[in-house]
Amino acid sequence: MEILVVGAGIAGCTAAALLGWADHRVTLVEHDPAVREGGSPVHVRGGALPIAERLGIAGLLREAETGVDRAEFVDPRGTVRATARLRTSGDDVEIGRAELNRLLLEQVHRVAQVVSGDGPRTLTELPDGIEVGFERGRPERYDLVVGADGQHSQVRRLGFGRETAYVTPSGIMIGAVPIDPDLVVSPRVVRTSHTPGATTIIHPAGGHPVGAVIVREEEPDVADDPAHQPSREERMAILEKRIGRRMRPWHGTDILEAVRRSPDAYLDSIGRVEMASWSRGRVVLLGDAACGLTLLGDSGSVAMTGAGRLVDALSRLDRPGDLAQALGYYERAHRPEVEHHLRGVEKATKRLLPMTRRAIRRRHRAVRFTRRV
Ligand SMILES: Cc1cc2nc3c(=O)[nH]c(=O)nc-3n(C[C@H](O)[C@H](O)[C@H](O)COP(=O)(O)OP(=O)(O)OC[C@H]3O[C@@H](n4cnc5c(N)ncnc54)[C@H](O)[C@@H]3O)c2cc1C
Repeated sequence: MEILVVGAGIAGCTAAALLGWADHRVTLVEHDPAVREGGSPVHVRGGALPIAERLGIAGLLREAETGVDRAEFVDPRGTVRATARLRTSGDDVEIGRAELNRLLLEQVHRVAQVVSGDGPRTLTELPDGIEVGFERGRPERYDLVVGADGQHSQVRRLGFGRETAYVTPSGIMIGAVPIDPDLVVSPRVVRTSHTPGATTIIHPAGGHPVGAVIVREEEPDVADDPAHQPSREERMAILEKRIGRRMRPWHGTDILEAVRRSPDAYLDSIGRVEMASWSRGRVVLLGDAACGLTLLGDSGSVAMTGAGRLVDALSRLDRPGDLAQALGYYERAHRPEVEHHLRGVEKATKRLLPMTRRAIRRRHRAVRFTRRV
């Protein structure tokens, strides 16, 4: 088949590489000019490791592992309040998000065409295919369009309708950015600091340290049109207001400053994406575009296993008319895993962002008690 994959994140690169190896003619289009640095490290585990093996990159992933094995919870002055060992095993590889993205993209280049700096503008179903109009390139016809373009998916907007119908704001905003290595206390230690409604995380990320600020938004908003998403300045203002003037979590000021300065900073409101169906006609959604698991360290793994299941489902397709059936297989195979993760979102959010001093003390006590997180 002639397939367009939109979005060269973890979901899109995994899908494009696997589809290319499966002898489909694949074009991967990405609106950014290159892989963006930054973003918190992700875990590759569960069904994602066999996918990495299939792509021949499992060894490279292990070489690039962050090597972090301890979590420290510190107060705003940096005094350690609780420590825990992190669960580490050969079945769970923690790796920088950009590093994983780069390794996957290298595989795509071997089997597919990659177009940067462009994206879809229109989708028109034809009797024997789908025509895609691009922001910059000429219109092209495909047999299938895979929307792997993240939480604010343009493919979802074009193929399924406005964002507000599918995305519910979670009330959480995140800024994540490469930071000065001097802020890292040890290459094996990730440090988290909470004040009510604001959290900072400093992760050594295998020599490419990343800082994240996570805050509760008071009036979260979802915009239907990308042009009406809050501007970078508006999002920065929310982060600054919420991170507080009197009591900031550890290194809150430094991370905010890095987010403000860096063109690579990831700065977004996190929404919950819920869709009754992930495909319509010749359009199918994958990764955060379909199910938005951002903020959980497993979003990369789930994106990779979803890509594997989509490609496996398409390999069962004998005649072009069976496309709807194949896309149905994909969804039935992948939904249970996504729903399992979605059930954990609320608990994970409370752990990540305690809203009161009491909840913070409870969190520290729980970490001391379990000793492993
Ligand atoms: C730079 C960056 C930093 C991140 N940092 C964090 C973090 O700190 N914490 C966290 O929980 N999650 C973060 N995420 C999200 C996390 O990577 C995803 O939840 C997970 O990996 C699943 O990825 P995905 O491929 O489905 O979506 P994404 O990782 O969002 O990738 C989507 C890709 O599609 C591209 N794209 C978007 N719109 C279009 C368009 N119209 N046309 C063409 N391409 C388009 C984007 O540029 C991006 O490359 C980050 C994502 C990015 C891109």
